Amino acid sequence: MKVEFLGTGAAEGIPALFCHCAYCNDARAHGIVRSRSQIILDGELSIDFPPDAFYHAAVGGADLSALKYVLVTHSHMDHFNGADFTLRGYKYAREMKEKELLLFGSCETCEVYCESTRREMKPEVGENIRLYVLSAFEEAAFGGWRVYPMKAKHTSQDPLVFLLEKDGKRVLHLCDTGPLPEEDYDYLAAVGGAPADLVILDCTFLFEEGGENARHMGLKENAEVLKRLEAIGLADGRTKRVITHFSHNAKPDAENLSRAERTYGVIAAYDGMKLEI
Ligand SMILES: [Zn+2]
Ligand SMILES: [Zn+2]
Ligand SMILES: [Zn+2]
Repeated sequence: MKVEFLGTGAAEGIPALFCHCAYCNDARAHGIVRSRSQIILDGELSIDFPPDAFYHAAVGGADLSALKYVLVTHSHMDHFNGADFTLRGYKYAREMKEKELLLFGSCETCEVYCESTRREMKPEVGENIRLYVLSAFEEAAFGGWRVYPMKAKHTSQDPLVFLLEKDGKRVLHLCDTGPLPEEDYDYLAAVGGAPADLVILDCTFLFEEGGENARHMGLKENAEVLKRLEAIGLADGRTKRVITHFSHNAKPDAENLSRAERTYGVIAAYDGMKLEI
């Protein structure tokens, strides 16, 4: 399975949109960019669809016309920009590789889609986008994919994390979320199966600690989650562990990220990173 990390920043991005801190000024001076969260699997399934999808296609070279499926974690603006779907057809997009797009998300995500496309969606564009509501602990299957949605510990209504399977490969996408709720571990243990080939972890805080009520994670919380996953057989020595969704506040510069990789045995994602699992 091909995994492309197109956007690896938190909501405000890096350099943060309106920020004038030393870290962001330095990033701006050196052309360092972390855009908002988007991961494309096998060129056909996008996890989330951020405001930076345009940038991912224009600069990152992503072929969004080839997407068959968009799986949305939650309705926050850095993960779901519904308005852009009004451009998927009519005179705005020609010779797309795929005619239909299946969009999966919570009730709230589907509501945001409807609100943000209400004024400008052309019927001939809208009819090729099909919405499916996902609920925690109700698995879904489409194409060669199987998706096990679970509860994220995060704000917005019914935020989701996912276990995804295709062709015998397994990916756990744990972003945006704090340390997982107990129900998720119970569900994963009941689903069973082989250890994940890849675990993608929310590491907004990096070396900082989120505290008890955090709705994101840092390295320490990531390590605890990985330990729990190992205990139920969902991760082992061969599982790749990728951290992403970095905030400017945590200063994810080269030095901090290589220290994180060495200390915690993780891979720090960057915009444009490609993995084969
Ligand atoms: Zn986010
Ligand atoms: Zn900043
Ligand atoms: Zn969020």
